[in-house]
Amino acid sequence: MKNVLVLGAGQLARMMDLAGSPLNMDVKAFDVRTNNVVHPIAPELIYGDLTQGIAEADVITAEFEHVAHDTLEQCENSGKLFPSSQAIKIGGDRRLEKALLESCSVANAKHAIIATREDFNTAIEQLSLPIIFKSALEGYDGKGQWRMKSVEQADVIWQEMADFIVQSQSAVPQGIVAEQMIPFEREVSLVGARSTTGEISVYPLTENHHTNGILSVSLASAADETLQAQALDVFTKLTEALDYVGILAIEFFQIGEKLLVNEIAPRVHNSGHWTQQGADTCQFENHLRAICGLPLGNTTLNRPTAMINIIGEDRVPNEVLAIPSVTMHWYEKEKRAGRKMGHINVSGTTEAELATRLSALAQILDTNAFPDLLEFAKKYQEKINR
Ligand code: ATP
Ligand code: MG
Repeated sequence: MKNVLVLGAGQLARMMDLAGSPLNMDVKAFDVRTNNVVHPIAPELIYGDLTQGIAEADVITAEFEHVAHDTLEQCENSGKLFPSSQAIKIGGDRRLEKALLESCSVANAKHAIIATREDFNTAIEQLSLPIIFKSALEGYDGKGQWRMKSVEQADVIWQEMADFIVQSQSAVPQGIVAEQMIPFEREVSLVGARSTTGEISVYPLTENHHTNGILSVSLASAADETLQAQALDVFTKLTEALDYVGILAIEFFQIGEKLLVNEIAPRVHNSGHWTQQGADTCQFENHLRAICGLPLGNTTLNRPTAMINIIGEDRVPNEVLAIPSVTMHWYEKEKRAGRKMGHINVSGTTEAELATRLSALAQILDTNAFPDLLEFAKKYQEKINR
């Protein structure tokens, strides 16, 4: 029996636990808001402090990158933390992330780092409009971002960003990263694992769609070989530079046959949830295998699969279960607008079959809760028919 402690007690820790128990792993979760170690599924208290959680764990990992640095250091000092605190900190600070991409010569959007109004003015001169400004710390689901189309917006945007920086509670100084807006054709991501032994195994590139800045659909079908090779090269460069252990997700913008890195996540990722039904070994199991030094599981695509996020809803019509190869994954969270509450995976033996099932699903689900799904299903069907 391996004891695994996860920093963070959300749905990712929950799904790690679900994937770990058949491997005889015991997964516990550290809730950073209460400082309690809890059971990841039924949030019952196990220990009232982190120290005991660390002592009882064989391996420690994180389900999110915005963990306080003293907590990360405490875990790292035990020698049990994977990936390293350095990798987690980089994932949690866009300034460090950009520096890593540059040091590995990995293609990414032209950018500038901003701390003062002067830096802001320089960034506007150096980058051409439109520009996207992102908070360096604590950003997720498109939060802490500003988009600038014309210089007339400069004063208003700067004021908002300056207020945002002042309000930061973080021990590390908050800042802004300005990025050239990329006229991408698609957004794709690569989820892959690197184990303590240096073994690497990646899933096929997944196509991602966002609604109101939040991931709504991920689609995994046979990946384009050229793009997949590019993505694997980036994955290898980044993970080797960091001596990375665990699942790492890399988000890309696709422009023609070229991939630019948007950002990385040092953890299991929402765009990898399809692996629960589309591959032999899901990302949660492969993360656990990687950090425990076990051989990695098969990451090839067994069948085309789509993942649909359930956002701000705590129920869907039961009829969705009548569609073949539909699986439900609820997180047992309290309903709140914009909150990721669960996801639906749907697979087909062929893309045509997946397209048919996706259309059936889109017709049953409420269009208010899944605003872009009908359109997505229709376009996918058209693409398959071509
Ligand atoms: P998430 O938590 O969903 O990954 P996030 O808050 O970490 O989001 P990003 O992934 O950096 O933020 O940005 C959110 C979305 O905004 C991207 O998926 C993309 O659609 C858009 N976006 C971000 N940066 C750029 C850019 N440079 N050019 C064009 N679009 C961008
Ligand atoms: Mg993102």
